[in-house]
Order: sequence, then structure tokens, then C-alpha cells
Amino acid sequence: MLLLTVFILGVAILPSLAQAPSRTLIRNADLVITMEPQLGNGELGLITNGDVLITDDRIATVGQKLDDAEARVIDATDKIVLPGLVDVHNHLWQSLIRGCGTSLALEEWLQTYVLPVGNLNVTAQEAYAAVRLSTLDLLAAGVTTVVDWSHAFSPAFARGNVQALLDSGLRFAFAYRGQLEQVEAMRALKRDLIDPTPRARFQVGGPQPRMTEASVHVMRCMAELADELHVILHVHLLEAEQNRQEEPLRTLDLAGALSPTLLGAHAVHVTDAEITLLAERSVRLAHCPLSNMRLASGIMRLGTIRAQGIRVGLGLDGGTNDTSDMFNLMRTAVGVQRAVTRNPAVYPTVADVLRLATLGGAEVLDIADHIGSLAPGKQADLIILNPQALNFAPRFDDVSQVVFNAQPSNVEWVFVEGRALKERGQLVGVDVEAVITDADRVAQRVHAALRR
Ligand SMILES: [Zn+2]
Repeated sequence: MLLLTVFILGVAILPSLAQAPSRTLIRNADLVITMEPQLGNGELGLITNGDVLITDDRIATVGQKLDDAEARVIDATDKIVLPGLVDVHNHLWQSLIRGCGTSLALEEWLQTYVLPVGNLNVTAQEAYAAVRLSTLDLLAAGVTTVVDWSHAFSPAFARGNVQALLDSGLRFAFAYRGQLEQVEAMRALKRDLIDPTPRARFQVGGPQPRMTEASVHVMRCMAELADELHVILHVHLLEAEQNRQEEPLRTLDLAGALSPTLLGAHAVHVTDAEITLLAERSVRLAHCPLSNMRLASGIMRLGTIRAQGIRVGLGLDGGTNDTSDMFNLMRTAVGVQRAVTRNPAVYPTVADVLRLATLGGAEVLDIADHIGSLAPGKQADLIILNPQALNFAPRFDDVSQVVFNAQPSNVEWVFVEGRALKERGQLVGVDVEAVITDADRVAQRVHAALRR
């Protein structure tokens, strides 16, 4: 009968069917960490026995004892709800080089395993397979927003890379490594694949800032392109000590790029005067402590940097850190500062690092009005943790234990734009074995070619 009605009324009835709002009620969570002080207790806005009502792609209400007869109900008894994690610096194709050069420092690692991949004619399908694996690993681990700084070895590579991001359901920014001969390909990719998708953003990936005439010229072109497109210019900045000889800040300044549009990854080797300069220019930064440890780069002076009001988010940084586990990244960000200062109260505290991994990351990406906290009207990007597990229970301080105990295996549900991408511990609609097989096939080819 319904089919007949649809047939008779034709398209007229279809919009009304399509418009019926999808509603999900997450009910009775032990703890909802809203990150909004006005919605709950303390600086993290904590609500015990809390509910979250999602309508379509947005958070409708956050509170206690919510009711909605129309909604699909998820019983969150014993569980913890928090905003999806925001990773502001990653390189998703680098799943292809996992486990490679694990005893190398940055420059040798780059020269041996990263840049040579640009000579291997990686196809769109191969880039897709590599990035597909990384996107699913991130989602399974509770990351809902990622910035993928792609080496974009060719326009085809870039398209395969972005298609995997689009297919994943993740919210993302694609930072396309800028080269003068690729500017038209960059514009086309943004127009065709990014702009039609509300959860996708474009960034210009800047070249390595080096004090040469050619480098300043390319950087100036990329800064102008980023300004014209109203997007972020994203560069690697003072990651290793030898980068100081390249005078990257002077390079960026001469190129007109040392501005609020700039996102710099790492900023490990900065002087006090340079931190002040970065703050004056409203530059934002990505902190990638697992990568900096693995590549023997050093430790960012995070407390000094944040004390100057610089916006900072956390970054997993691709194949260098071998993991998509942002809980691990959070406790590392806390731990390295404590180890260096021998002060357990040093920035970031547990609350600080939860903010860096959520709202702080959103601020770095200029999307804090859409995501990063569980506030009515914001996009429904959130995760549900099951802490009743060997690695988490017994529980005395859920907030601290999210940072110190949680692992991706505790992530039971992941929502992006109100859509469940992980349900009851399983990625939705994904053949994990096939994804691994496809990525492995590409990795085998890449490894064989790198060894030659
Ligand atoms: Zn990086």
C-alpha cells in the first residue's frame, strides 16, 4: 500500500519521507564529558547519569532524564560519552611504511622511506587502499576529525587519497602539499571533491620552509593561494634541531606566511623570542609528542607556548608514531612534560589534555563552532566508551582514567554528523579483512621498490 501511494503521488511524497528526522537518544551514561562548563560540573562540563539526544546530524539536547518516544535508544549505562577526538596533523598514506626505519631520526627516515615513494608512481587505487586502512583505524580508535597532510605525489594520488577520506565518513581537512606545477590540480580537487562535502575542508600544505630564494617564492605562492581560497596554510615547522639552520620563521615571514592563516606542526626547537613572535602573529600549532619521541626530534615546550595564548591541537603524525591511538597520545603529552619538569602539576593537566584533543583541536582548525564539545546545535561527532574492561576497571576517577587507561578497544560507538560509523565495537559496513589485504598488497609493492 505504501509503495502504491509513493507510486501514485510520485516525487511529491518522497521529500517528506526523506525529511523525517533521524533521532538517537543516548541514555543514562555514567558520565557525559561535554567540554562546556555551562552545561555541567567543572571546567569539563561533566554530567553524571547523562543523556544526549541527536537529531539528524546535530546534538539537540544534553542533560538528564531526556525522553523522546520517536528516538532510537542506546543504553549507555556504565558508559562514558565524550566528543570525538580531533587529530590536527597526520599523513594517512604512511600506513604503507609502518614498521619501517624504526631506528632512524627524522631526516634519514624522510630520505629513506617517505620521499622516495614519490618516485614509485603510486596510483589512485593504491593511495586509496593505504588511506582507507588509516581512516578506519582512526575511526575505530575514536578519532572523528583528522587533518591529512598529504604529500600528494601526483594529482591521481591526491584524488585516490581524498576519495578514501570521503568514503570513510570521517570529518577531515585535506592538506594538499603545494607545488607550483600542481596549483590547478589543487583548485580542481577542492572544487570537485571537497567543496560539495560539508564535513570536508581543504588546506594548502606548505613546502618545507628553507631560507633560499626558491623556497621563499614557492611559500609566497602557497600563502597567496591559501588566502585566496580562505583556507589554512599547513607547514612542518622546526621539528628537528637541524631545521634551525634553514631559518624557517624568517622564510615564512619573507613569504608573507607568518600569519593567523598558518598552522605549524611540531615547533619543537623554538626560542622564547620566536614563541612570542608566533603568538603575535596568531599562528596555530600541532603538538605531536609520539612522533617527536620516535624520530628523536625533541620535546615541545608546550606550557610556555600555551602560556602565550597560542592555539594548540594534538597530532598523531602518520607512520612515524605507528598508531591511531589518541588516548596514548594524550597520556604521552601529559607524561613528557612531567618527565622533563619533574612537576606533576605542569601543563597539560588531565583536563587540559582532554581539551587539546577535542575543543582545542577544533579551535586550531577554525571549526570550534561546529565540533569539539557536546553542545546543543553542534554537529553530533561523539564517542561512547565502555570502561567495564580489564584495562579500565576498577573506576574511581573516570576523567583521569579516560586519559591514563583508555585504549581504542574501549571505543564502542563512534558518531560523525550523527551517523554511527562504529556500533557496539564494530565498524559499520566494513570488510576489515579485505581492507587489510588491499593495503598489504600495495605495501608489498612499495617495500620491494624501496629496497631496490
Ligand atoms: Zn608531519
